[in-house]
Amino acid sequence: MKAKDLLEKLMKEKSLTKEEFVFLLEHREEVREEAADMARKLCDEHYGKAVYPRGLVEFTNYCKNNCYYCGIRAGNKNVTRYRLSKEEILSSCENGYQLGYRSFVLQGGEDPYYTIEIMVDIVASIRKKYPDCAITLSLGELDYERYKRLYEAGADRYLLRHETALEEHYRMLHPDSMSLAYRKKCLYDLKDIGYQVGTGFMVGSPYQTLENLAEDLLFIKELDPHMVGIGPFIPHHDTQFKDEAAGTAELTTFLLSLLRIMKPTLLLPATTALGTIAPDGREQGILAGGNVLMPNLSPVMVRKDYALYDNKICTGEEAAECFGCLSRRMERIGCHLEFSRGDYRE
Ligand code: SAH
Repeated sequence: MKAKDLLEKLMKEKSLTKEEFVFLLEHREEVREEAADMARKLCDEHYGKAVYPRGLVEFTNYCKNNCYYCGIRAGNKNVTRYRLSKEEILSSCENGYQLGYRSFVLQGGEDPYYTIEIMVDIVASIRKKYPDCAITLSLGELDYERYKRLYEAGADRYLLRHETALEEHYRMLHPDSMSLAYRKKCLYDLKDIGYQVGTGFMVGSPYQTLENLAEDLLFIKELDPHMVGIGPFIPHHDTQFKDEAAGTAELTTFLLSLLRIMKPTLLLPATTALGTIAPDGREQGILAGGNVLMPNLSPVMVRKDYALYDNKICTGEEAAECFGCLSRRMERIGCHLEFSRGDYRE
């Protein structure tokens, strides 16, 4: 087996066996540049040099779950908790709209305060005020009926990372009250309802092996999502994983290239976590095949409290500053921010 041949095979057949993925990941140094070039070229063919910004509103950092890696998990008593009101969420969107954003993402911990009625009202209000914008939700696990009500209220897309596709690994990252099977069911429900669906995983999470990553790629192949969010794991000082190593930009960008090659039309963000572990991480992510950025639109006052991991970037800047900074960063690498809904293209 040669890494180069496997890359060619992936290009042609859009998937590999688990063993082949593991081999390719092991020998990635031999083909990293070639993979990035292929990926960028495929991205250019489908989306040109456009990079789609999604304005991220982190509306609550309360969470009932206890994911071992996450800084805002329920068990962390050192978090200053906050919730944004409907008015605050709408005014964050308005701020984004004025800057040119046509795509909003509401993300939060799993916070029972926001009942389905409250969420439906928030989504419907955004939909009514901004009929020309895409609304993405990232609220964690709900049931079919609730996902459906949110879709009918006007949400277009849903982000729910599977986190890791292998049960044994999932168990090492989550308490027994959570289940990988249910998370996967949620993803299939979301697709069935009609959402554009995004899944994904952390790169370099504790105990992760290359075999785990191969399983992640195969699960993504099977689910066939519209978006895939991957970013390096970064330790948070108030978690049991505080002394674990962070994932690397090198492996994350290689995986971005493989994902682009597997599914050339994917919406693929260069994540904030990638920008956190390397100063030019987001640029590297775009050059390796990414085409989405998710700048923060949350009020500056609460930003530092949505700390899933340590040293998160862009927690002090106003939305307008992030916007200017990212535009310049994209232009320096020959791309540009495109302020449209940025829908998935067949
Ligand atoms: N509650 C929502 C949103 C989760 S936060 C949900 O369950 O989907 C969004 C993502 O941040 C998570 O899916 C996870 O992959 C990532 N994340 C959490 N802790 C992290 C850490 N320490 N390092 C890097 N990414 C992390």
